[in-house]
Amino acid sequence: MIGSDPENILVEERIPTTNPEETIRKVIEFFSPYAKNGTLAAIGIASFGPIDLNLGSPTYGYITSTPKEGWKNVDLHGQIKNKLRIPVAFETDVNAAAFGEMYWKKERKQLDPFVYMTVGTGIGVGVIVNGIPLHGLIHAEAGHCSIPHDWQKDPFPGVCPFHGDCLEGLASGFSMYKRWGIAPESLPNTHPAWEIESVYLAQAIVNLIYAYSPQQIIMGGGVCQHTGLIESIRSKVLKLNNGYLQSNRITNEIDDYIQLPLLGNRSGAFGAIALAIGMKKDLWNNPSNKST
Ligand code: ZN
Repeated sequence: MIGSDPENILVEERIPTTNPEETIRKVIEFFSPYAKNGTLAAIGIASFGPIDLNLGSPTYGYITSTPKEGWKNVDLHGQIKNKLRIPVAFETDVNAAAFGEMYWKKERKQLDPFVYMTVGTGIGVGVIVNGIPLHGLIHAEAGHCSIPHDWQKDPFPGVCPFHGDCLEGLASGFSMYKRWGIAPESLPNTHPAWEIESVYLAQAIVNLIYAYSPQQIIMGGGVCQHTGLIESIRSKVLKLNNGYLQSNRITNEIDDYIQLPLLGNRSGAFGAIALAIGMKKDLWNNPSNKST
């Protein structure tokens, strides 16, 4: 996608993620004419992770320990930057989505810290602190946090190749498919899958509230679009909190506190544009600004 803001998109194309060689070649082919003629000033990459965001690391810009076949230790940022020779911002897809929601929507601007959770094929969590995505050792990986797992009620062992029954292992769209043999979008409202799903996601959200003290939590991704799921999550969050954390945002404004993305399923793409703008404005110190 190339544009200056969500209302001004010049061109967009969807390139399927296959192997790294083919996928990156097609991405470069798409952007190359616009980089050469000066239309494109900077690029924002919103990548699946985990990724290396340490500016001093020799593998900065790499995708690291992903279970996605063929993508381990791929220099995504470097390959694109070296071919297109313009500044390239690099972030996780969920941090970019969180940044996009905050950057483009005035309703979000004062809500800092700010958390974005996506529940799709996998589960990811992006965190904005002081107006920019939170980095530390690498980045938040709260999609893989542990949550209580009642093996009597739910004997499913989970699908995470690293942890088995972590949050992503138990509550991702892929785990729902493996548990029930039906894709989440085809599971009817009355199916017990949705009660289990809301329990796990509410437990995770309470953990996020206690860990980051966010002013707002956005629930993105296809699974969260299911009718009634977010309402069920809100009521379970209130029950699990049990009056412990006393804030008006939780007690009286839970519908605003936990809500769906204002940018729909395009938070990540629009977030990537915001990241590119951030590169040009030097919102954060990035080595891409210092060369070529
Ligand atoms: Zn895991």
